[in-house]
Amino acid sequence: MDTPWDYPDFDQHEVVHFVDQPEHGLKAVIVIHSTHLGPAAGGARFWHYDDPAEALTDALRLSRGMSYKNAMAGLPLGGGKSVILASPERSKSPELLAAFGKAVDRLCGRYITAEDVGMSVKDMVEVSRQTKFVAGLPNDGSDVGGDPGPHTALGVFLGIKAAVKRALGKDSVDGLHIALQGAGSVATGVAMHACAEGARLSIADIDEAKAKKLADTAGGTVVSPDDILFLEADVVSPCALGAVLNQISIPKLRTPIVSGAANNQLATTEDGARLMERGILYSPDYVINAGGIINVCTEYLGDGDAALVRERIQGIPKRLEQIWTESATSGRDPGVVADAMAQRLIGRG
Ligand code: NAD
Repeated sequence: MDTPWDYPDFDQHEVVHFVDQPEHGLKAVIVIHSTHLGPAAGGARFWHYDDPAEALTDALRLSRGMSYKNAMAGLPLGGGKSVILASPERSKSPELLAAFGKAVDRLCGRYITAEDVGMSVKDMVEVSRQTKFVAGLPNDGSDVGGDPGPHTALGVFLGIKAAVKRALGKDSVDGLHIALQGAGSVATGVAMHACAEGARLSIADIDEAKAKKLADTAGGTVVSPDDILFLEADVVSPCALGAVLNQISIPKLRTPIVSGAANNQLATTEDGARLMERGILYSPDYVINAGGIINVCTEYLGDGDAALVRERIQGIPKRLEQIWTESATSGRDPGVVADAMAQRLIGRG
């Protein structure tokens, strides 16, 4: 039988906390990867797994991802994640949410939870009745917190501008062609910033009405979701799905820059090297898309106002610059460089 130490994704995680309370319908794992920079922050996922081992793998992998993301965003927070093992019908009772809240509370603030796949803001409000260690609750009118999408979009747009400066030597996206995959929350914000600066947009969404609405608002052309990544464009911005950069798609790209919001854009670690071999500048996803978490965590920490949120988001292009410079010097691709930089920041260099 495998122990947590035997899992390929085990990486000196500080705490692996198993919760098993059948009387409340709760089975969960709360994982703290690192508290080197501060309490471990990361969302709670509610998902059905055929094999509980997959839940542990997810929690180990995602908690490490949160350590890296929070560290690279300059937040005084470590990384953690919780996974609640849902029944096949994914039913969720107030008792289960209360028991989860109590389990989080027992960790005395070493882990801060938040909404993730399968959990709603309403669920998190239930959880927060049992513990104060919850981030991303409904905004009570303060000038930080609330919808993370616009903050993520700002960070992505600033990242695109930094990439344009580095790869094309231009200070503005004026007149440049940006291909946006997705027309959802983040893509909409990116499109509005880009069109305000004079960019030409191509937009694709599997929901064509969304693509059309955004194209009408921001000014742009609707393109088939099958073609969007492969347009001849100055920037391709994946803002929809993960794993879109892979051994099939990368040879077909016709852009010098890939900078977008989607999580886990590289299908495998090797795909970062594939992009580099083709001379395409890549912005590591967890670095460029940190605007939303910066906003939510600044609200939770109560350590600043909207000006601090903006200042922290403006750190995103600076961090990307550091990554690209180290990548150019070392010959290692930006994804690998970002991971190594994050490891150093959490004291594991
Ligand atoms: P969203 O759900 O608002 O929008 C995603 C859009 O992508 C939807 O309109 C969907 O129809 C479209 N889509 C799905 N498959 C597609 C395909 N094959 N081709 C084209 N379009 C497709 O999501 P969002 O909040 O805008 O997030 C976009 C991405 O950024 C996601 O990967 C998300 O995980 C990541 N992200 C978002 C935030 C945030 O603050 N919202 C933060 C970090 C990362």
